[in-house]
Amino acid sequence: MNPFDYSSPTSIDEALADIAVRPRIEDRSGGTAKFIAGGTNLIDLMKERVMRPQALVDINRLPLADIVAQPGGGLSLGALARNADTAQHPLVREQYPLLRAAILAGASPQIRNMASNGGNLLQRTRCYYFYDAGVPCNKHTPGSGCPAATGLARQHAIFGADERCIATHPSDMCVALAALEAVVHVRSRTGTRAIAFDDFHRLPGERPDIDTTLADDELITHIELPAAAQFSRHCTYLKIRERASYAFAMVSVAAAIDLADDGTIRDARLALGAVAHKPWRNRQAEQMLVGRPAHAASFAEAADLVMADARAWGGPGLPDSLPGNGFKIPLARRAIARALEMALAGVVSNTGEDAAQLPEAVQ
Ligand code: SF4
Repeated sequence: MNPFDYSSPTSIDEALADIAVRPRIEDRSGGTAKFIAGGTNLIDLMKERVMRPQALVDINRLPLADIVAQPGGGLSLGALARNADTAQHPLVREQYPLLRAAILAGASPQIRNMASNGGNLLQRTRCYYFYDAGVPCNKHTPGSGCPAATGLARQHAIFGADERCIATHPSDMCVALAALEAVVHVRSRTGTRAIAFDDFHRLPGERPDIDTTLADDELITHIELPAAAQFSRHCTYLKIRERASYAFAMVSVAAAIDLADDGTIRDARLALGAVAHKPWRNRQAEQMLVGRPAHAASFAEAADLVMADARAWGGPGLPDSLPGNGFKIPLARRAIARALEMALAGVVSNTGEDAAQLPEAVQ
């Protein structure tokens, strides 16, 4: 690991000042200063020499860990509240079961105990090539190439990607936050701003090295959840992964429906994880569901609509040892329909203790 400076400020102003004095160096080392909270991803990347910040500003002593009900409804999640504490919070349990299910589907209990809410948003892709500092990678160094696009692409994107980078965002929590229309609040020395969740993560495009729209000197202070009581009864987080203990998703779906008395869908939310460089919400499919009867045919139609733009990478033409990710397209299509059926049945998750509730129809 490279040497780095370290500070542990006790106020937000002090933390922002510590970040501001560091030079901005855009290179593969991530050579500027970084905020650190739980460190569950950044420390790994530093050990692998993928990121080599010159300084760490430890924000764990800042007063940003509260989870507070908002006067007009909704909830404010402190950036430093731990993932585990967020999932177990009574107001999250009661009002946002979709978020709770997504958090509990992610990582291991040990990691959830350390990982902060702000850090969850900022975790980086788990592309195998990205974690090898010795290979070219456009996310390390723009212009150096993307070996995944012609190589091992099994876990990679099927939406919003091109040959410059086909990485996916690894978070489960963020998929639920996208579906719940969260807002990310940030602060810098020049003021505050609120970023709609859809605008927080970005597609790789010409700058695969930049994951979010957050500036280097901006600090996430809290995540705002709008009131969403209408989605608390019929919601689910479905995570498809390669092993049942814990693993990153191959495909995940956050689905929520608000049912009218006559059984039609009054409102719907649908977002996918592990399929793009950002959580992949599809408003067109949500709109299509509104007014439709809540049954399998509507759900299948919504799934077809979401998947219309999907594109696979790798596969035919590559050696068998380098399988592509074409299997993700039918997998995601089935996962969307299944997640909506689970939401209708009031089954909130297919992982952990909630999996035992799965009715036969959606197993
Ligand atoms: Fe690098 Fe992105 Fe290609 Fe992975 S998919 S090798 S992160 S450029």
